[in-house]
Amino acid sequence: MCEDCFEKGDSRAPGSVIDDAGSRRLFLLLGLSVLAGCAKQTVLSPMPSPPWPARPPSSPEVQQETTAIPMPAPPEPTPQWRRQLLPRSAWARGLPVPTRMNRMSSIRFITVHHDGMDPFFAIDHATVAAHLEGIRRLHRRKGWGDIGYHFAVDRAGRVWEARPLNWQGAHVKDHNPGNIGIVVLGNFERQQPSAAQLDGVRVHVSTLMRVYNVPLNRVHTHQEWGVATVCPGNALQKALLRLRRTGRLG
Ligand SMILES: [Zn+2]
Repeated sequence: MCEDCFEKGDSRAPGSVIDDAGSRRLFLLLGLSVLAGCAKQTVLSPMPSPPWPARPPSSPEVQQETTAIPMPAPPEPTPQWRRQLLPRSAWARGLPVPTRMNRMSSIRFITVHHDGMDPFFAIDHATVAAHLEGIRRLHRRKGWGDIGYHFAVDRAGRVWEARPLNWQGAHVKDHNPGNIGIVVLGNFERQQPSAAQLDGVRVHVSTLMRVYNVPLNRVHTHQEWGVATVCPGNALQKALLRLRRTGRLG
């Protein structure tokens, strides 16, 4: 578990403007197709590239890398599994505990995470559902009222409803009020996101930006909050920066 993804302790946010009607409006809108983005907001500077050591092509290290046993190839998600929003009831084995959560305040931010656990390639419904339930139980054992994130995106690009949006999330220490948390399933320090998964993130984040009027400069990854964390992992961080630079979010 990526412990640094899951923090708690934000003070109760004043008021709540996100009601059930707002949640219904979001889910009704999630099926809409996305127009090509036009990034009018500030384009963020890219993260510095990792300092790869320069090695001659014939060095033993290079030969070892090229002959190493690769990670098992993940199954390719089928197109019909993409862009589906699955309700919380499709996976959760327990209800949220309202007394342990704060009401969501006016939505101003969106933050993307990875789960940071072992590399996760599954796309079948039952395995993904069990994975989410595992995360929920970990978070409940911390004393939290529910899974800390509001949405999850699996490797097939499907979006799963997690903590209901009328409750404040628990995913960035001291920055949870008004902050929608999206976890991308996998460990992107150790694996690459699939194309379908990245597209699921792009579509879902863009939809949330439009529905809640969140500008691009308020869409962050966990590490961009200045928290000491690698979340959402190097591969996903780079992919999200590319989406921003090419104006495909929003
Ligand atoms: Zn995180």
